[in-house]
Amino acid sequence: MRFYSIPAALCVLSLPVFAHADNLKARHERIAHKRQTTSPPPGSSGAAPPPGATPSSSGPPPPATFTALDTGTGIPPLSSITSGMPTQATLAPSVTFTPGASPPVSGAPPLPSRAPFVIADWPPVNVVPPGNSPEVTEWMKELDGHNIPDLSPTINGSCEDDPKAAADSASRGWWTCGGITRATDIVNCPDKLTWGISFDDGPSPYTRKLLKYLDEKDLKAMFFVVGSRILERPEILVEEYMAGHEISVHTWSHSKPLTSLTNAEVVAELGWTRKIIKDVLGVSPTTFRPPWGDIDDRVRAISMAMGMIPILWTSTPATGPFDTNDWKVAGGLVPGPASFDTFNAILGNASTMETGFIVLQHDLYEITVDLAIGYTLNAAQTHSPAFNVSTDSSVEVVRQS
Ligand SMILES: [Zn+2]
Repeated sequence: MRFYSIPAALCVLSLPVFAHADNLKARHERIAHKRQTTSPPPGSSGAAPPPGATPSSSGPPPPATFTALDTGTGIPPLSSITSGMPTQATLAPSVTFTPGASPPVSGAPPLPSRAPFVIADWPPVNVVPPGNSPEVTEWMKELDGHNIPDLSPTINGSCEDDPKAAADSASRGWWTCGGITRATDIVNCPDKLTWGISFDDGPSPYTRKLLKYLDEKDLKAMFFVVGSRILERPEILVEEYMAGHEISVHTWSHSKPLTSLTNAEVVAELGWTRKIIKDVLGVSPTTFRPPWGDIDDRVRAISMAMGMIPILWTSTPATGPFDTNDWKVAGGLVPGPASFDTFNAILGNASTMETGFIVLQHDLYEITVDLAIGYTLNAAQTHSPAFNVSTDSSVEVVRQS
């Protein structure tokens, strides 16, 4: 199978536009040259924790060394950003892209023409797709010849609920329990003070607001997209791609932790998302992020066999997980200021690291988009010492100065 990949510009990672699955290992060794080899503390979290997961804690925040609010953005004060806040109108598209348009990616094919989706052609949204469909049966062949570890699925991706698997997490390579990573995981940016901007769980009705801001600030991000959301809003995926942002798989349903699924179900979650991205954009992604960061050696091996490299977010014993906790604000678990305190601590920790870092944020909710536009992305641009953030599209995330 030949892949047209979407190059990874999350930080200074560069993937070839045309990649063959057989070359994945060599490609990986080239781009993942800075790796996290130590394990962060348990409790690394994501958009919403698996049942029983322990929320992370980041300790007291260091002094702010950046401008908190980006004035002129229309974003309300931090104290107002909390669950239940008034919602604003969503944006209409500023530009419509037609089939045949050229993407801002060297060597990428023109945007394909595509008939409107026939819902019956796709799995039901928000639930794990069946593992016995003809499509999944075909995609399962991609695992042939690869060493897929014979690990039994976890009970529900939770360390507490599956103590047997949790006790075995080091040998299973289970990130959820103990933050175990492998050399094939991308967990940070190679260069010190480089910020890898990532947004998960869209496309949403609020993604356009974020795209407008990113465009105004000349920032590029990586979007980890959910297939069920693309089925609803394919045009926003096109806008992300055509604006020069990176596109990566974040499963079809985002309904269950991947380590709790069978091999065929993992293939279905990744395969259907890859397919809908290919149908809409004409290219297939070569990276993926597991929901809640729930990955083990079995899930890793399946994704790699399918040509998708895992990307997590930075987490080390010294720094804790680089999770802004914006999802907790949207869920009413913490108010906006508490999330920003967590974020503030991340920035203080990031400045002390010898590598760059990848921060987890979300574009599924208006609240999380507002936090990004008004606060976190502004902090990225006004921080002292300066962070390198993405300003270019297809090759790398470029230094700010
Ligand atoms: Zn997610």
